[in-house]
Amino acid sequence: MLIDSHCHLASHKFEPSEREGIVHRASLAGVKKIVSLATCLEDIADNLTIADIFPGVGICVGIHPCDVHNAPDNAVEVIKPFANDRRVVGIGETGLDYYHPAPEGWSEEDFRQRQKNFLQQHFLLAARSGLGVVIHTRDRSGCQSFDDAREIYQRHADKVRALFHCFIGSRENAEKVISLGGLVSFGGVTTFKSARDVLAVASGLPLGTFLLETDSPYLAPVPHRGQRNEPAYVAHTCACIAAARGESFDDLAAHTSQAALEFFPRLAEL
Ligand SMILES: [Zn+2]
Repeated sequence: MLIDSHCHLASHKFEPSEREGIVHRASLAGVKKIVSLATCLEDIADNLTIADIFPGVGICVGIHPCDVHNAPDNAVEVIKPFANDRRVVGIGETGLDYYHPAPEGWSEEDFRQRQKNFLQQHFLLAARSGLGVVIHTRDRSGCQSFDDAREIYQRHADKVRALFHCFIGSRENAEKVISLGGLVSFGGVTTFKSARDVLAVASGLPLGTFLLETDSPYLAPVPHRGQRNEPAYVAHTCACIAAARGESFDDLAAHTSQAALEFFPRLAEL
């Protein structure tokens, strides 16, 4: 069994009428469980509906760092009741994005500060609800957003596990997350010829410390690079990392699925 630990089934890039085919193709590819993440308040209802319709789909609720300026100040308070829903398996997508420029009317500093405030609030909600936090970080260069997010995680690591998704950082940074009890996850970038260093990081980490994901509809793995991504394609990422590690596809699929179910315990019941 494979698990796509990160995708956005409610994205406008997927027509509602396509969802059945997407989940069916995933199942045919061995992807029996899918985690679909909300990125804003408006996204939550759609994601809950998807989880209702399709067995094996769990959702996460959160405000994406690129969306914090559109969200009300009390957005995390609004999310709070959803954390008790059986279909909600984690808190996110939250995090820090220093790649995209601050929106109009915002200074870079104020925008980053709001992202940090929201991230902090997501951790507090996760701690109250016993769920893990799914974190996005992105920089133009360097790893300042990662460093800042890891530092915030460190303050909560005794109560909460964090998953640094779509990880493209160094082995040293992956190990910093793992040493706090967190996980990283690898997506389609791992299969890109231009990202051999990411594949090398994925090859070197111990089993049980990382998950697989698509981040679909974005970042499709080879041989679908440049096309719209979907959960079935996590199989390509699994094959690529398994080959680089010298392990069988089935072994890597089993270990990453086990780690995903430990991070998202409610997913096992869906
Ligand atoms: Zn995402």
